[in-house]
Amino acid sequence: MQNLLHNLNEEQLAAVTLPAQSALILAGAGSGKTRVLTTRIAWLVQTGQVSPAGILAVTFTNKAAKEMTARLSAMLPINTRGMWIGTFHGLCNRLLRAHHKDAGLPQTFQILDSQDQLSAIKRLLKQMNVDDEKYPPRNLMYFINSAKDQGLRAKDVEAHDDYNRKFVELYELYDQQCQREGVVDFAELLLRTYELLMRNQPLREHYQARFRHILVDEFQDTNDLQYKWLKLMAGPHGAVFAVGDDDQSIYAFRGANVGNMSAFEREFRVQNLIKLEQNYRSHGHILDTANELISNNSKRLGKNLRTDAGHGEQVRVYEASSDLQEAQWIIEQVKDLIAEGWGRSEIAILYRSNAQSRVLEHALFSSAIPYRVYGGQRFFERAEIKHAIAYLQLMDNLHNDSAFLRVVNFPTRGIGAKAMESLQDAARQYNCSLYAAVPYVAGKAGSSLNAFVKLIEGARFETQHLPLPETVKVVLELSGLITHYRNEKEGADRIENLEQLVSAATLFVSEEGYGLDAPAFLGPQAQATAGTAITTADGIEVIDADAPLVTIMSPLSAFLSHASLEAGDNQAQAGQDALQLMTVHSAKGLEFDAVFITGLEEGLFPHENSAKEDGGVEEERRLMYVAITRARKRLFMTFSQTRMLHGQTRYNMRSRFFDELPEDAIKWLSPKVQKNNWFAHPKSAWDDAPESGNNRIAQNFSRSDSGWRIGQNVAHSKFGEGVIVNIEGGGGATRAHINFGKFGMKLLDLSVAKLEKV
Ligand code: ATP
Ligand code: MG
Repeated sequence: MQNLLHNLNEEQLAAVTLPAQSALILAGAGSGKTRVLTTRIAWLVQTGQVSPAGILAVTFTNKAAKEMTARLSAMLPINTRGMWIGTFHGLCNRLLRAHHKDAGLPQTFQILDSQDQLSAIKRLLKQMNVDDEKYPPRNLMYFINSAKDQGLRAKDVEAHDDYNRKFVELYELYDQQCQREGVVDFAELLLRTYELLMRNQPLREHYQARFRHILVDEFQDTNDLQYKWLKLMAGPHGAVFAVGDDDQSIYAFRGANVGNMSAFEREFRVQNLIKLEQNYRSHGHILDTANELISNNSKRLGKNLRTDAGHGEQVRVYEASSDLQEAQWIIEQVKDLIAEGWGRSEIAILYRSNAQSRVLEHALFSSAIPYRVYGGQRFFERAEIKHAIAYLQLMDNLHNDSAFLRVVNFPTRGIGAKAMESLQDAARQYNCSLYAAVPYVAGKAGSSLNAFVKLIEGARFETQHLPLPETVKVVLELSGLITHYRNEKEGADRIENLEQLVSAATLFVSEEGYGLDAPAFLGPQAQATAGTAITTADGIEVIDADAPLVTIMSPLSAFLSHASLEAGDNQAQAGQDALQLMTVHSAKGLEFDAVFITGLEEGLFPHENSAKEDGGVEEERRLMYVAITRARKRLFMTFSQTRMLHGQTRYNMRSRFFDELPEDAIKWLSPKVQKNNWFAHPKSAWDDAPESGNNRIAQNFSRSDSGWRIGQNVAHSKFGEGVIVNIEGGGGATRAHINFGKFGMKLLDLSVAKLEKV
């Protein structure tokens, strides 16, 4: 016991050993929230207050769940596999597998990641002859997901006009399509579980009685439905231990509601609110920078952070002339760090938007520094992997139309658009899946479709007794994928990835405890006879408390869920000894010795979209707070005068966040210039810019015949003060891009706009 608790401070110890009631641990970054949560689980189990099966722990990512399980294995002399530790999605998947009948789902239901969901929506719009310009698929997806995140079915959504009514109608049709195909999207996993527990009292009471301790990390980022879900799961007597930091709430755009923290305090009758204020991660100057920045937010629950680590080094700020030069400078710094002996994987480069990584990657590639990018395309999102997964999905569930469509003619097997049209007509006519409609298609089209079905059924038959990795191997061959890529010019990488899929399957079965010989298709019935499923007095089947995943899903189903859930995860994975590149969002919860925060410019960070939304800038500031607090020892911040983004050179002002940092914690490596005044800088911004092509264009127009020039500070009656960042055209048709800070970038006709020089 001593061992478990000895490296905690007083407040942490108090939090870990709280009585079995609901509690809220409100604490800043790096104060040990995650450590406290993990230690509490171990302490509860070790002191015999709860069996491992009575624990339900919710983490924000699959990776965090894995790490927590690994820590617990090290702390406790028990098998932690039976513990329910996972993301909301992962836990719901598990529940729905166990009770798929009650939830109205086929045993082999499959999960759509967001990419699959979007194509399912596009398919629906096409089938319904809906104009996708008027009703863009992405908007519909957003509409559906946010309704689900609030716990609303189509019938519960109030539509105020015809346009909205159409969305609601399409939402309903989309749900029907998913049901027919036996697939669920991410938001559906939660909503389905919630509805199941609402409806089914014995089941609800079973889980409420079982999970006496529910623990939630990153609580500030729960959405409305997740909050309701927790309330339902906890029931009247459950104890919910929530840890979070309101200053790190960065998912409002996905429906997260930081208001859940105060609602929680009230509704769970929280008697113990503990604040942790000692930071163990960052040196003093870094922490001061974070504290000072976040103090500019108005809506805060209020807390601060201190450290015993000493001031450490100042935060280094660098102003570049272009994004290319910014990247070059970063690489020089990284080289120095590596030469000083800093580990590559302990250095992170963070950016606000994925698009920024291109220039950085290019520079890193040229300088031969190993690096790894996260948040871009993940393994399970690659096209060749998606194809292979689609074959496996079809073998497990022939009615998955998304999978059917993805591979029916890939590799090409002479099934053309016409054949598919007849097939889709038939499916519509008989209201069945594409697979079921195949017998209704006549002629040559019918026979080639039939050959495809035979291929899938044949693969299913051939692999019925094989373990998962073998099954994957056979499918790669039988499907023709390997042959296809072998004949493709750039196919070698793809084949390598497909081979990695076999390794991923091997790793998966061993990690999940399936045994390397367990047949891929082994169903839960077979497992149930092994005595792991039990029936309660009320006659409902539930899973034995300590049962591992293996009793609920076949290895194949479990692997396919894993592939979809991984694809949806937005966090970095453990990397080799390589530099770490990622968005600030993906860096949540992580820590590094050295951190670069790049692209700190108005419009980029804070992002231009934030100006349009209420509280948008405050959310950006929280994001910046997350970025700063990832660093242990050395922090760099960079910004650039010009940047190529989405094919355009942009001229931005440096981020307003610089004006919110404590002066003595910051070291300006380039001379600090007056805000709004770069272009008057004595050393011309363009002089040493390597990206001369773009700059030359800018210079050509730098003084237009209208008397205006780039860099000129101006005032406008409506938008206030701004700076001219580009001028185009000439004579009576001169227009200028002007950055008005708060009002963003405007394109104004200089012969009409009433501008004054300031
Ligand atoms: P975030 O808000 O970023 O998720 P957190 O509050 O969850 O941060 P942790 O990740 O749990 O913080 O802890 C931050 C770092 O401090 C970790 O490296 C952790 O091991 C260390 N740490 C936490 N508590 C202590 C302690 N009492 N003594 C020494 N180190 C500690
Ligand atoms: Mg944490």
